[in-house]
Amino acid sequence: MISKRAMKVDSSGIRKVFELAEKIENPVNFSIGQPDFDVPEILKEKAIEAIRKGLNRYTLTQGIGELREKVLQHISKTRKRTFQPNEIIISSGVSGGLYLALISIIDPGDEVIFFDPYFVMYKHLVNLLDGKPVMVDTYPDFKISEDKLKKAVSEKTKAIIINSPSNPTGYVYTKEDIETVVRVAKEKNILIITDEIYDGFVYNGNFESAASYYDNVLILGGFSKTYAMTGWRLGYVVGNSEIIAQMIKIQQYSFVCAPAPFQHAAVAALDIDTSGFREIYQKKRDLIYEGLKESFDIVKPEGAFYMFPKLKNGDASAFVEKAIQNKVLIIPGNVFSEKNTNFRISFATDEETLKRGIDILNRCAKDF
Ligand code: PLP
Repeated sequence: MISKRAMKVDSSGIRKVFELAEKIENPVNFSIGQPDFDVPEILKEKAIEAIRKGLNRYTLTQGIGELREKVLQHISKTRKRTFQPNEIIISSGVSGGLYLALISIIDPGDEVIFFDPYFVMYKHLVNLLDGKPVMVDTYPDFKISEDKLKKAVSEKTKAIIINSPSNPTGYVYTKEDIETVVRVAKEKNILIITDEIYDGFVYNGNFESAASYYDNVLILGGFSKTYAMTGWRLGYVVGNSEIIAQMIKIQQYSFVCAPAPFQHAAVAALDIDTSGFREIYQKKRDLIYEGLKESFDIVKPEGAFYMFPKLKNGDASAFVEKAIQNKVLIIPGNVFSEKNTNFRISFATDEETLKRGIDILNRCAKDF
């Protein structure tokens, strides 16, 4: 019954951790990819208001005009470049946007380049669509090497995906990293898909977008993380109008539109000052980095709420098993990578849990 296409995707790595999590009493859960605060009150009120007003029907496929306009203003201002009304679609989360973007550009055998470690969905979606994932290794410092990137480009390259701040490393691309990707992409006018979902969580103030330096881009952005509304399923894609037109067409026959009341509520989101959340997460980042830096090799994350420590020796799956036996839920590096030397921590949790987890992980590392 099951298609070969469906069988290409394996979700066992993360699922195993989630299944174990259910069996452990009071675990230190460092595996969750969402903020530990709740949606700002004003947005909840706006969503309830929209539902009460009867704004519960299908919207235009590409999203309501008010939200598209607001996002375009925000993106044009922050990425220092003006985007036009035909260069945006409101999607069902960044996941929905990514799926529509990839299905609009990939033919069987087409190659999509991204950087290892990577966000899990990139590899699986490219495979699912009969494309070929081409990974460029960025260990140990997660910087982009021009040499390696150039070698990965072929006649079949359809796009380069970048993700800054990164899941799973928390690495924020420097201007130099971005310029490297743009330089390579420019040579063959390759599309850059830039996943900027964590742009609300940059701790050193140095966020750079490829869209500020290059025209042939799709920016993937969203509300899930910045406003803690992962369940509202709202995101957007801004950029190349030719691809956006195809994405709108395919959204019409798949997602239809992003959830209507939440689109109405999100119009108010971009006016909210979220610097308070960022400052709280920066403190959490400092706490966990300082707490673990002696036991593991760590590139200090400058963004998102993840850290990707490297074990001094040994295999990440064995270490993760040991950590889980000691009630700390972390995810082995091979879920996000072709290597298995690191593990992912999400530090989106309260201070007491962070401290408990730091103690246990240090103890586990000592006799590993
Ligand atoms: N991109 C990255 C890098 C992510 O980490 C996530 C979620 O974890 C997503 C995209 C998907 O986000 P959503 O579909 O909730 O907008």
